[in-house]
Amino acid sequence: MGYKQARLRRLNDRPSRREGDYVLYWMQIFRRLERNHALDYALVCAEVLGKPLVVYEGLRLDYPWASRRLHRFILEGMEANAERAEKLGLNYWPFVETERGGGRGLLRRLSERACVVITDDYPCFIVPGQSAALAGKAEVPVMAVDSNSLVPVSLLGAPVSAAAHLRPRIHRAFAEAWPHRASKRPKIPDAARKRVRAPFDVWRAKDVAAFVDGLPLDASVPPVSGTPGGTPAARKRLRRFLKRRLDGYAEHRSPPRSLEEGHASGLSPYLHFGHISIEEVVEAVLATTGDWSPEELRIHNRGKREGFFCDDHDVNSFLDEALTWRDVGLNWHWSRREDAQRLETALPPWALETLGAHAGDERPWLYTPEELEAGATHDPLWNAAQRELVATGVIHNYLRMLWGKKVLEWSPSPAEAYRTLEHLNNKYALDGRDPNSYTGILWCFGLFDRPWAPERKVFGRIRYMSSENTARKFNLKPYYAYVEGLPAIEEIRSGAGA
Ligand SMILES: Cc1cc2nc3c(=O)[nH]c(=O)nc-3n(C[C@H](O)[C@H](O)[C@H](O)COP(=O)(O)OP(=O)(O)OC[C@H]3O[C@@H](n4cnc5c(N)ncnc54)[C@H](O)[C@@H]3O)c2cc1C
Repeated sequence: MGYKQARLRRLNDRPSRREGDYVLYWMQIFRRLERNHALDYALVCAEVLGKPLVVYEGLRLDYPWASRRLHRFILEGMEANAERAEKLGLNYWPFVETERGGGRGLLRRLSERACVVITDDYPCFIVPGQSAALAGKAEVPVMAVDSNSLVPVSLLGAPVSAAAHLRPRIHRAFAEAWPHRASKRPKIPDAARKRVRAPFDVWRAKDVAAFVDGLPLDASVPPVSGTPGGTPAARKRLRRFLKRRLDGYAEHRSPPRSLEEGHASGLSPYLHFGHISIEEVVEAVLATTGDWSPEELRIHNRGKREGFFCDDHDVNSFLDEALTWRDVGLNWHWSRREDAQRLETALPPWALETLGAHAGDERPWLYTPEELEAGATHDPLWNAAQRELVATGVIHNYLRMLWGKKVLEWSPSPAEAYRTLEHLNNKYALDGRDPNSYTGILWCFGLFDRPWAPERKVFGRIRYMSSENTARKFNLKPYYAYVEGLPAIEEIRSGAGA
């Protein structure tokens, strides 16, 4: 196992039960059947024990911010996984709750027949709590496997206070991690393929859209068109990015544009739900440049944004987001867990101090969370960004920063601003509920940043952003035109815009 040991965490100390019927892989967030370290490990266990492997992927009705939008995306992924499992010859057991509590106790019952349970090690949302709950009850070992990023998160070291501190650590570990990527196509030993009948009706839907519409879910967050879930859809988006958007990424990612017109990859929903592995993305992006090899990384540029992987400006820029910035959130959550998400424990002392000193400042504009959710502010750019988020489940990266900063400015307190942002981001964004949801929002309050001058009202020394400056910096006409073509927020929330 060697290097891969760094990805493994034992969640209880129960002895393995060799007489069990199968090895159980409980897929919670790395929702894919290829390039998945957790699946690879489960297959090794099945081979060593000479047992079938069962992949169980479940979906409850009551996860926080559950909606038709999130359900549809996840279920499209499950539909694709069912097809893939059939081809690979894997026992794949999808379970979808159709009434609240319908799945209660199911996982525990499945674990009672297992030799060992393998699951995903992800430091955010409901995953750590769910895994710990099963580990506490199960009579067999529960092992969590980290398939979050290219470098195992446990090797990234102590949480950093700035991306600049993590970049050299990733660069240092990259060459060693590279040969240990998860299997492109998992090797399935004969024993693992042996058929096992599921003790429940596995989920199958002829029409995922109609199925989701029939579930008791929040209908005010409808599914989005244009971003279907699943590994095949993720790969299609990756291919389009490589063909049309990577070229020019460094220069043109920031100007606000639709996904179609801009240079962002639009991969974050797929990365969040694990429909695609960051290893596959990095491999594909690096393959576009002829001048790179893992043996010839430019060590003299270690820790720099430019020139470490290759000479291609766009590739280096993309990898800095997809590796450095994405891993910042994972690293931050890995050891800090809940503390990673609380203003008072997450923010650096200077940020807490300056926000505290300006807590009593008069706010020229004050909005309730409901007004913000409805995109009913005096600021057309902010309202447009909110409309994009509500209508498409995506929000342009540059505007997302402005969007967060303004909520801080227009809320009665930083604590209320933070609650509002967490709620809106996690409710509407397909990529929400992620380590980077929290680090992204907290960045708006000073995390991973430094004090800025001049000291301002409400913000104190927190970096300030304004719609006026954004309008000076970029031509916003194409963005406004794009948003004008989207359904209005009230139409969407009433279900009419779906
Ligand atoms: C207020 C706020 C909230 C945010 N909430 C989320 C969130 O819920 N989920 C989320 O994944 N990201 C979040 N981010 C970070 C960033 O906005 C998104 O990752 C990015 O816009 C996703 O679009 P993309 O896939 O087209 O990015 P690309 O530019 O194509 O980048 C490729 C990948 O790199 C990673 N990445 C890019 N930018 C960042 C960044 N600034 N921080 C961390 N990782 C990054 C993402 O995984 C992304 O998919 C937030 C940022 C802010 C300011």
